[in-house]
Amino acid sequence: MKPFRADQLSRHYFGRLVSDPGQMTDLPAPARMGLGGALLPRLLTPQRELTCDRGMTRKTLWRLSGGAYAESVLMRYPGRVTVCVSSQAGCGMGCPFCATGQAGLTRNLSAAEIVEQVMAGARALAAGALPGGPGRISNVVFMGMGEPLANYKSVSSAVRRLTEPPPAGLGISQRSVTVSTVGLVPAIGKLAAEGLAVRLAVSLHAPDDEARDRLVPVNRRWKVAEVLEAAWGYAEATGRRVSVEYALIRDVNDQAWRAALLAGLLAGRPAHVNLIPLNPTPGSAWTASSPGAQREFVRRLEARRVPVTIRDTRGRQIDGACGQLAARGLRAESSAGSAARACGPVSGR
Ligand code: SAH
Ligand code: SF4
Repeated sequence: MKPFRADQLSRHYFGRLVSDPGQMTDLPAPARMGLGGALLPRLLTPQRELTCDRGMTRKTLWRLSGGAYAESVLMRYPGRVTVCVSSQAGCGMGCPFCATGQAGLTRNLSAAEIVEQVMAGARALAAGALPGGPGRISNVVFMGMGEPLANYKSVSSAVRRLTEPPPAGLGISQRSVTVSTVGLVPAIGKLAAEGLAVRLAVSLHAPDDEARDRLVPVNRRWKVAEVLEAAWGYAEATGRRVSVEYALIRDVNDQAWRAALLAGLLAGRPAHVNLIPLNPTPGSAWTASSPGAQREFVRRLEARRVPVTIRDTRGRQIDGACGQLAARGLRAESSAGSAARACGPVSGR
């Protein structure tokens, strides 16, 4: 077919948020069904949908082709909407505090499967699915299931599709995209050389190799010092501050001395610390830090002028942390357990 048909199709998908070929009435009927059906197959089927925070957080468990599962979350804040996407079905990195890590890796997602999570969110938002009226996606974070840098090719090509203007992409600003990594050092270097201005988040979780070896098993390959060196290299290449993610786990990594050690590593560096109160996974002995320990941790960082914020805990009641809904959703479609939760399935409202 004529090349301009591809342009038309792309404008529908990215520009007008139309994914149903039947609605692309400027395409001749045979092209609509043939091209639309072939180039825009259904990649994601919603399996469960949950809302929380008075409807402002909406989480979807998707069934992918081949029977794998992945999750995405839409979060509306005053003045912005963030979608959190998965880059893999499961994850092979095995962090013991993370529900996704416990299930292991099923498979990588394709670039299209990643992009479609954002597009599905964009369509829902444009249709007014979240309170506050129709809206647009302003931010994308790769903080759902999976390790984005272990699926480098699909993730970098998804970032390009999401950030190029229509018809080539959705037109989100590169600066509004965050890629979160467990610390795959060579891939951080590669990303720094891509010429993308995306924000890098590094999941550090401990300032010392002893604790990090336990919390983030890949640390046995790339140590704290190497991960931070790669992060500073990224900041230098992109001119962007790196976000250091730190899940506070009671008596495991939340001691004041560890806060001081972390402050020493980050003082004067282009970093911002994001403290995440641990969202305990079922069956784990680990729990979130006490408010006192959290306050002291913040104080130690601020004493060295290290910028620090505490991540808000959106979607806690709907198993908001990475992989928790998939783990539960696979066990029971509509178990009594989930019915008793503070926030219910969308369809039940
Ligand atoms: N694999 C990437 C991105 C996905 S995880 C990474 O690890 O960075 C996104 C963030 O959620 C990471 O910072 C991760 O450490 C954190 N996380 C995972 N499980 C969590 C839990 N149970 N409570 C709090 N944060 C968690
Ligand atoms: Fe994978 Fe990130 Fe979970 Fe670790 S925290 S197991 S890297 S998704």
